[in-house]
Amino acid sequence: VAAESLRVLVHASELLTGEGIRNKDGRLIEEHDIGLIDDGALVYSVKSIKGREVPAKIQWVGRTVDLPQKYLKARRTDLKRRRALIPGLVDAHTHLVFAGDRSSEFARRCGGATYEEIAREGGGILHTVTATRAATEEQLFKSACLRVREAMGYGIRTIELKSGYGLDHEAELKQLRVAKRLKQEFPEILFQSTYLGAHAVPKGRSKAEYIEEIVRKTIPEVASRKLADACDVFIDEGYFTRDEGSRILQAALRAGLQIKVHADELSNTASSELAARLGALSADHLLQISDTGIEALAHSDTTAVILPGTAFYLKAAHAPARRLIERGARVALASDFNPGTCMTLNLPAVMTIAALYLGLGRAELFAAVTYNAACALGFEDRRGTLEPGMDAAFAVLPFERFEELYYRFAWPSGATT
Ligand SMILES: [Zn+2]
Repeated sequence: VAAESLRVLVHASELLTGEGIRNKDGRLIEEHDIGLIDDGALVYSVKSIKGREVPAKIQWVGRTVDLPQKYLKARRTDLKRRRALIPGLVDAHTHLVFAGDRSSEFARRCGGATYEEIAREGGGILHTVTATRAATEEQLFKSACLRVREAMGYGIRTIELKSGYGLDHEAELKQLRVAKRLKQEFPEILFQSTYLGAHAVPKGRSKAEYIEEIVRKTIPEVASRKLADACDVFIDEGYFTRDEGSRILQAALRAGLQIKVHADELSNTASSELAARLGALSADHLLQISDTGIEALAHSDTTAVILPGTAFYLKAAHAPARRLIERGARVALASDFNPGTCMTLNLPAVMTIAALYLGLGRAELFAAVTYNAACALGFEDRRGTLEPGMDAAFAVLPFERFEELYYRFAWPSGATT
């Protein structure tokens, strides 16, 4: 790589490589697995995309004093031992593209109304569906861009985003086209776009007929036009049964999409077991997971994605994260950013909740938002650790220690590349 396309960061107060987490496949993580380097340095290449300099690949990682001679001529930035350098965070579960405002609904919920009461009166998901259907693609794109920029400020460099607020063929495709435009607009972010047509049954249609549309029309079109990388299903009481979910997921697999599941959230439907059996990338939520479900995930390659911001926001009991970890499951944390049940992109704040209420330790928290979350997207060969050959997707934090990320509860963003 030519010297003019190399950049060097030196004197990071601490640098966390995450190397040991990869070596353990993200399971039973201990403190030394985080790969902490005191006074660290990072060399990476850059490329130019649309006249903008974008980080490309990591060339070298180590202590500043060990920086090889050949990198001394590259343009360098001195972090003066005041800023920590970590792999860019991975948010493995968001519903980032939507329109509409549900703040009044939140106020009602705080006043005692239940989520079910609000849904019956036309609030909830269906409110967002109406607004998202009415919005133009351009309006959805603009609001999504603002959200991605905010996420970047929290150190997030990889984002999963789902459709699921269109709930008909055309409106779902509109949301997925927005996701495709985001990929072009933000070359420094790696996105995974997920088709979640089976988020709810649209008002005024029969479930059977809607599933036919998903399986026979939308999945084949989404796959052939490369509008999504993955397919997700909300398997729960009042939504889709395990058999219906299984049918949809198998259609997605046949079409060449990756799969994941909103599993065992409101009730136990043994959907974690289904996710493990079908080889899903992830099983997400897991508030009601059984011991059998825990064992199924622990003995599979399916990542358990916990969303403690949602449980917090709904005042629900948290997922059994400690038991999942102790049984050997690979556990990730994600924001579940969505307008109804978790209106925040602040993944570090979600880490604070996980630290306080789920009992995750420092190394477990770090793994859960880096390597393990990258596994939940199948991106672990490119993202989640700072090692030579990986994407240069890192975050420079505006403080000295990694743990300040979740110690400073809900900090107002400010990570840079
Ligand atoms: Zn979700």
